[in-house]
Amino acid sequence: MSRLCVHTISTKPLNLDQCLTEYPKQGVSGITIWRQALEGRDLATVKRQVGDSGMDVVSLCRGGFFPATTAAARQSVIDDNLKAVEQAHAIGAPLIVLVCGAVPGQPLAESRKQITEGIAAVLPAAEQAGVKLSIEPLHPMYADDRSAVNTLRQAHEICDALGSPKSLGIAVDVYHVWWDPELKAQIDFAGQTGRLHAFHICDWKTPTTDLLNDRGLMGEGCINIREISDWVDGTGFTGFREVEIFSNKWWAADQQVFLDQIAASYQQVYASPSPATGLPRE
Ligand code: ZN
Repeated sequence: MSRLCVHTISTKPLNLDQCLTEYPKQGVSGITIWRQALEGRDLATVKRQVGDSGMDVVSLCRGGFFPATTAAARQSVIDDNLKAVEQAHAIGAPLIVLVCGAVPGQPLAESRKQITEGIAAVLPAAEQAGVKLSIEPLHPMYADDRSAVNTLRQAHEICDALGSPKSLGIAVDVYHVWWDPELKAQIDFAGQTGRLHAFHICDWKTPTTDLLNDRGLMGEGCINIREISDWVDGTGFTGFREVEIFSNKWWAADQQVFLDQIAASYQQVYASPSPATGLPRE
């Protein structure tokens, strides 16, 4: 379980104190903190509390949402991303996940240009703070209003366009990219370029009843999670496997039961040694 991380959004009904108490009881080793969980909290205290929990803070979710129809709106988003950099630094989070954004009706190419410009505007502060920025491509069903970056190839293109700064990379979320025929090649390229920052897992249910909030536990759906995970490890990635599940069903359930299920399904997926690394089961 040494690589199991849980996103606070996965257990949305729990506040941050409860997450910090309950996750370690299940053997969870890392926590990715969503910004709403920080509201009203003293960040230095949060940093100390996470340290006391024995877990690593893996990332802060989330920055991004750069495209907008006016320059003033784009600037206010950049300001919010700069605030996220300060928050990440304050709680000791090494990276910020970027959900890049899109505006319905605005051409995707224009949104991608605005995303690239927005990241460029935030990068210097991130570098100074020692915080990485990680572009998370989202499934194309979200290309209208959540992200104009829908493939790993597009994420690489943004990294290229910005001159491949060390602090800019990619978060691979199986839910968003499992269908991509280029997936293995693009994961390999992310490894070769040092861009593979983060790895998120959950499952794709059939039928999916809600395009945002019906994600499954590992094993509830049809994604070849273990195979993709082995591709990721095959690049030399040794970071956390982050369980990120948006689910009305699970949010309505007893979160203790849900956390039990997260741990059990994680162990199920990783029950056998990896052919990529030969690492023993966890
Ligand atoms: Zn994700």
